[in-house]
Amino acid sequence: MKSVKYQFELVDITAHMLRVTLQFSPRQPGTVLSLPAWIPGSYMIRDFARNITAIRAFDAFGAVTLTQLDKQRWQLEGNSDVVTVEYYVYAYDLSVRAAYIDDEVAILNPACLCLAVEGQQALPHQLNLVKPTLPCCKDWRVATALPRHNTTKALGFGRYQAANYDVLIDSPLLLGRFNLSQFMIDEVPHYLVVSGDNRTDLPRFTDDLTRLCQQQKAVFGALPDDLTQYWFLLWVTEDGYGGLEHNDSTLLLCSRFDLPAPGATEIDDNYQNLLALCSHEYFHTWWVKRLKPACFHPYQLHAEQYTSQLWLYEGFTSYFDDLALAKAGLITAERYISNLEKTISRVNRNPSDSVQSLLDSSFTAWTKFYKQDENAPNAVVSYYAKGALLALCLEAQLHANGSSLQQLVRWLWQHYLSTGTADNALELSLTQLGFTELAALLTQWLSQAAPLPLQQTLPALGLELVYRPMQHMDDNGGSTNNSGNNSIFIDAQTKVVNGLLQLSQVYQGGNAHNAGLMAGDQLLAIDGVKVSANNLSKLLSRYSVGNQVQVHFYRKDRLLSANLTLNTATQQVAVLTIKDELLCNAWLAASD
Ligand SMILES: [Zn+2]
Repeated sequence: MKSVKYQFELVDITAHMLRVTLQFSPRQPGTVLSLPAWIPGSYMIRDFARNITAIRAFDAFGAVTLTQLDKQRWQLEGNSDVVTVEYYVYAYDLSVRAAYIDDEVAILNPACLCLAVEGQQALPHQLNLVKPTLPCCKDWRVATALPRHNTTKALGFGRYQAANYDVLIDSPLLLGRFNLSQFMIDEVPHYLVVSGDNRTDLPRFTDDLTRLCQQQKAVFGALPDDLTQYWFLLWVTEDGYGGLEHNDSTLLLCSRFDLPAPGATEIDDNYQNLLALCSHEYFHTWWVKRLKPACFHPYQLHAEQYTSQLWLYEGFTSYFDDLALAKAGLITAERYISNLEKTISRVNRNPSDSVQSLLDSSFTAWTKFYKQDENAPNAVVSYYAKGALLALCLEAQLHANGSSLQQLVRWLWQHYLSTGTADNALELSLTQLGFTELAALLTQWLSQAAPLPLQQTLPALGLELVYRPMQHMDDNGGSTNNSGNNSIFIDAQTKVVNGLLQLSQVYQGGNAHNAGLMAGDQLLAIDGVKVSANNLSKLLSRYSVGNQVQVHFYRKDRLLSANLTLNTATQQVAVLTIKDELLCNAWLAASD
């Protein structure tokens, strides 16, 4: 056999069970089969092989011994002409990075389903999809960027083929009932697939997405040469939000309430977030799927693969995702600025801003950013949010010098596509473009655990930034009628657990921390009055700055009390004002 063949059968939808049949010709005795431990784009060890529930191998003469070597590798004994390996995979992970099967939809990432035949990854890989016979699957179709075999109908079950293993595992599949629309960007067909039966305005969604794709394409000047089709695979659920980029597609998860309602013309926050997510993943088509860190040439999927460049690939993508909405005219400048206020506020109000550098945040993504706990606001910086703010600072500095971040991004795209970017590629590019001082500043911004100089840089984009104290825990910045000076505060995030108000995160150096309160403490009363999520702000509003209150709380099963001195928030949030319309409009004008 000159190819590796897989077959997927949804053998038990109720049990979320997929049967995979793998067939190939071993080239030597002792062939090893392995499954990735992680999926590119999501930097966490997921140990996909844990969902394989049974596995056996056989050839024309009967059973072939298969020995498990470790958590994700198996070795075949003997040297048959053709070996078949049959295994079952439990698929019930409601995420875009794995596999999920129910009676409405099947989301299949080959990265977590297809064992690699080591040494044969470069061969063509075929995938046969067997249509389930259950009544609920009668109208099911198949959406994927994988090329069809010529015997398979468009959107049909049957044979698909990938040029090699890497292409196979970069091609998620969405099986089920869905709505489909098509649009063209530079003669390349783009497909929008929306799973399930939803009341949505698909023509409007398609139209908005087309404008976004045009804008993102304009950043780079053209589509990637090898892009022949692109699929937005949108998996609609009760709630959920997320996306994962692939070479010729993206798999996205959203709530049905994120979709634009029929008849609605406004862009509400939910729909705006969905468009931003689509915009983000589409930008990745250039930025991390094709141009990527040099160390990802090639991916090593058996263990962590470290890079200090996630601020560049995720941070810049996060900057350009929202920006495209403004540049494409889908949201106003004011609305875009208000989004920026939220991002600045989220980064600035966390003590972690002065604790972890962007380089460190990238490098440790595997164990810190992807494994956040209650201490995250004190210790973990988001290379998405702060990376986007770094992009904003660079944009401002480049604008002040007659250039733009788009020019810099294009430079990297043109100069590093084949080799990938080394850790200093951006500094080097800035130097080569004549921005020596900015290159030095960039090194500083990346390596220091310190707030970025947004107040100093943003005037170059026509913006003034001031900070004010947070007024409540959901305060994301922006102007307010309240002066903010008399807002009384407990420096902790809360959530309701079993009917009690629990401190979920305690800010280091804040009044709760200073009073000896810990994350997990359950608040019962303030000065003898029962406290709840509903009355906390009202209770506190009756005090003044400097007043001390007695807090009663449970710590696990012990009843304790502490004296807490009230203050205005130590956290600061952002207020942006457009001071120079000309500068601001030039920045937010559509790319050409
Ligand atoms: Zn991303």
